[in-house]
Amino acid sequence: MRPRKILLSCAIVFLSSALFINEATAQVPAATGYLGKAETYKAKNSALDYLSKKEVVTRFGAISDSIWSYAELGMQEFKSSALLISALEAEGFKVEKGVAGMPTCFVATWGSGKPVIGILGEFDALPMISQKALTPLQSPILEGAPGHGCGHNMMGTAGVAAVIAVKRSMQENKIQGTIKFYGSPAEETIISRPYMVRAGVFKDVDAVIDNHASSGFSTSYGVDGNAVISVLFTFRGKTAHSAGAPWSARSALDAVEIMNVSTNYLREHLHYTQRMHYVITEGGEAPNVVPDKATVWYYVRNTDGRIEDMYNRVVNCAKGAALATGTELADIKVLTGVHQRHANKGMAEVIQKNIELVGMPVWTEEENAFAKSLQKELGNAQNGYPSRVGQLRAPSGIETGGGSSDVGEVTLIAPTATLNFPGGVPGAIGHHWSAVASYYGPAAAKGLNAGAKVMAASAIDLLTKPEVLAAVKKEFEEYSKTHPYKSFLPENATPPLDLNRELMEKYRGRY
Ligand SMILES: [Zn+2]
Repeated sequence: MRPRKILLSCAIVFLSSALFINEATAQVPAATGYLGKAETYKAKNSALDYLSKKEVVTRFGAISDSIWSYAELGMQEFKSSALLISALEAEGFKVEKGVAGMPTCFVATWGSGKPVIGILGEFDALPMISQKALTPLQSPILEGAPGHGCGHNMMGTAGVAAVIAVKRSMQENKIQGTIKFYGSPAEETIISRPYMVRAGVFKDVDAVIDNHASSGFSTSYGVDGNAVISVLFTFRGKTAHSAGAPWSARSALDAVEIMNVSTNYLREHLHYTQRMHYVITEGGEAPNVVPDKATVWYYVRNTDGRIEDMYNRVVNCAKGAALATGTELADIKVLTGVHQRHANKGMAEVIQKNIELVGMPVWTEEENAFAKSLQKELGNAQNGYPSRVGQLRAPSGIETGGGSSDVGEVTLIAPTATLNFPGGVPGAIGHHWSAVASYYGPAAAKGLNAGAKVMAASAIDLLTKPEVLAAVKKEFEEYSKTHPYKSFLPENATPPLDLNRELMEKYRGRY
C-alpha cells in the first residue's frame, strides 16, 4: 500500500477545493495502490533520468554488444540469459530460472501485489549469418556461424534496462505493484511462449509490453501475421543395396519427397493467407544405401481460424506418402504452435504517447556515415538513420499472411502490444548479414536505450493510472469473449531442448 503522504499530495495538486481531502478525514479509495498524474510525471521523470545517464546508456550498450558477440541459437542461450540475469539480480530482482522446463527461460520479479506489469525480452541468434560488426560489406567473423540478424541482442537488453529503471522509480516514488521481466528463449524458432503460457507464467499479469528492434520507432494494434505449427514428420522404411536389391527396400526418403510433392499441390487449394515451408533434416547417408529413416521439418502457417484445417490436410499428405511408398509414418512431433498476434489498441496508444515523449535519438555524423555506406552496398537510398518517429498503425483489414511470433500467445492471455525501437539501419535486411552488421555499437546502444525509455514510461503509466489499466483490460476482456485462448500445442508436446545444440557446439568459442 502506498503511504498516506503521497495520496495527500496528489489530492492537493489535482482536486478542487470542494473536494479537498485533509489527512484526518481522508475519504480516498483505500489501498488502491495508484498515484495521480503529478506522481506519474515524477515517476516517469526519475525512470527517464536514470536511463539518460551516459554510464547507463554505455552499460546496457555493452550488454547488448556482448550478447551480439555470443550469438547463441535458440535454447542454447546460456551465456546471454546469464548476463541478463546477473544485471537483474544485482538490482534486487528475484529471478526464477529454468522456467516452463526450459533452462534458458527465466522470470525476474520486483515488488509485490497489484498491478502486475510485464515486459518481454528475447536474446537468441540465427544460424548461418555471421558478420563483422559495423562492416558495410559481407564479411563473416566465421563462415557458417550464427549471428544476430534480428536484433534480439538489443531486445532482451532493452527490456532489462526498462524494468530496472521502473524498479528504481517505484522505489524512489513509493509506487505499489510488481514489475516483471520475462526472459523468453528461442523466439526465432517460436518455441518458448506457448510453453510459458501452458506453465501459467503469465497468470497474474495485468498488461504486457513486448519489444522488437527495428530502424523505426513505432507501434501498432490489431491482428497481425500468421499462426504457425512447427512439426517434424518422420518416416521409417527398410534398407537394402540401392543397386543390388532395391526391390526389397522401402525408402523413407521417397516418402518425404512424395509428401512434399503432395503439399506443394495442396498450396493451390489453400486460402492465400497460407505459408508453408520445409527442410529435410534427415534423408539418408549415402546413395547406395536405401534410407530407412527420413525426417522433414515443416512450418505450416495460416490465420488462427484456418490453421488447424490446413495442418490436418498436411498430415493427410504425410499419411498418403507413407501408403504410397510402403513405409511407416513413424512420428509426428509438434515442436510448437502459436497464434497470430492480436495487439491491444489501448496498450498501443500508451506506447505511442511515450514514443512521442521520448522522440527519435539524434544520430552522429559517424553513425549516419556507416548507415549510408551500408545502404549504398544494398542498393538503397542513402538517407542514413531516420529523424522522426512513426505514427500509430491501425490494422490494414486485409489478411496478407506473413511471418509469425510466439508473442501471439501472450496477446491472447493479457493485454499486450509491441514497441518497435530504432538502432538498426533502414534498408538492412532482416535475417541477413546486413542486419547483423547494424545491430551493434553506439547507434544500437542509443536505439535500445530509447526503446527502454518508452517501455519504462509505459509501464509507469500502467502502474500509476488505474483508468488506463482498466480500459486496456476491458478491451482485452471484450476481445477474449470471441477469441478465447486455446493452445495449438498437443498435450504431450515438450520444449525441444536439443534444438540447435549440435549446431551451437560446432561454433561455440570459435568466434
Ligand atoms: Zn525477431
